[in-house]
Amino acid sequence: MTDLPVPLRVRRGRSPNCSAVGSVVGLALVSAVVGAAIVNAFADRLARWIAGPPGDASPSGGGSSTEGGPSSAGGSGPPTVEDQDAPPRLRREAFGGILAWADPPALLHLDHAGVAALPASTPWGPGNVDVPGALRAPTEVHVSVTDRCPVACTGCYLEASPEAREEPSLAVLRDQLDQSAAAGVFEVAFGGGEAALREDLLDLAEHARARGLVPNLTTSGFGVTPERAPRMAALFGQVNVSLDGLPGAYEAVRGWSGAARGFEALRVLRDAGAAVGVNTVVTSQNLRHLPALAAALADLGVVEWQWLRFKPSGRGADTYERFVLAPDDASSLWPLALDLEARHGLTIRFDCAMVPFIAEHVDAPSLARTLDVSGCVAGERLITRSAAGRWKPCSFAAEDSDDAPLAEAWRQDPTLRAWRAFADALPAPCSTCPWADVCRGGCRVVSRHVTGESLRPDPECARVREHRQ
Ligand code: SF4
Ligand code: SF4
Repeated sequence: MTDLPVPLRVRRGRSPNCSAVGSVVGLALVSAVVGAAIVNAFADRLARWIAGPPGDASPSGGGSSTEGGPSSAGGSGPPTVEDQDAPPRLRREAFGGILAWADPPALLHLDHAGVAALPASTPWGPGNVDVPGALRAPTEVHVSVTDRCPVACTGCYLEASPEAREEPSLAVLRDQLDQSAAAGVFEVAFGGGEAALREDLLDLAEHARARGLVPNLTTSGFGVTPERAPRMAALFGQVNVSLDGLPGAYEAVRGWSGAARGFEALRVLRDAGAAVGVNTVVTSQNLRHLPALAAALADLGVVEWQWLRFKPSGRGADTYERFVLAPDDASSLWPLALDLEARHGLTIRFDCAMVPFIAEHVDAPSLARTLDVSGCVAGERLITRSAAGRWKPCSFAAEDSDDAPLAEAWRQDPTLRAWRAFADALPAPCSTCPWADVCRGGCRVVSRHVTGESLRPDPECARVREHRQ
């Protein structure tokens, strides 16, 4: 067992919405014991996969090719999650490879020795062209399937409205999924507008599954019905319901009363057996109400709760000053999350843009790195396809590019290249920050709004504020 590979990084969970790319954090990040236990659990799982199931005659440990599809793990031993699981898939990377496990979902970064130790039946994927400053292909693609939404949230980053301006056809979206699968992408996150209003959304999810992609969804609850929920549960890796508070707090953030609809969608999806989570945009308007929301989510059986930073794009740019967290409030998020996790048994996940708020509290960037906590991943492992059919580094970015095949855009897109180059050579104070390679300089969308330039250190990071003074 001691000679078996230990993952370089372990990222647990799914990526059901834009920027949900950090690992599930919380206690694991402040306890070396808990963090090590997570890595060990996945090292054991990897060892069982390498050893093969009892009675399996297929060779193991014999290296791997990069062609062909996944094969069945099979096995006659006592049933475990791993035995029943679909086999993992491998994508080659310059450092070795990424092994993607379906359930429980995880991405493991392996070095070359780790890749060489995998059973010959493991392999999958493309990924032969190095991309400076990035993985060989995105791990996930965020796809906006419409900019139509029946409501008009005060801070909508897309300026969505009831009348669709852009709504790609099913054929166009299927082609995007085909390109993603061919490039070696693992997950796609469908968003809008309100994605669930598309009648063909589940056909799209089925197409993704057929191509080996895991489709995820973010919804405000529109389009989630008891009739539709069983198929949603079967198709989506995870569905996250946007819920910014209980009645009152919800309206204060979104400008309309949607809490009841969100809770109903959660109940319907939970009863259908879907993997569900909740997204909450944390603002000055709902921060003080988070403990009440935590209790309600725990009562409902929600276990994964994602907190997102308010992004100043679309209508959010016009309302940013009203919603942005004061510096002390931003600093309070991490201890508040730990407290709510402990009290309610919730797992709270921070979005990519919140990494600077973690960094000021946690003296363990190495553990964060191992748990694959990630700051700005736009263009490094994430790309977004807008409803207008253009590539963007992330869903909130103002910069976009002409249509091009995914693989070509990933390698050549000038915005992606510029964002990668910035992360590779961060200016002060990020250049000397111990969190630099995890955080990558903070949120470019906030930098653009506050400083006028995307490629500047995040002006709301405590360390950057101190440096300016
Ligand atoms: S710019 Fe980077 S940190 Fe900000 S939302 Fe996009 S991916 Fe996340
Ligand atoms: S100084 Fe820069 S790299 Fe460090 S936490 Fe702040 S924004 Fe991130």
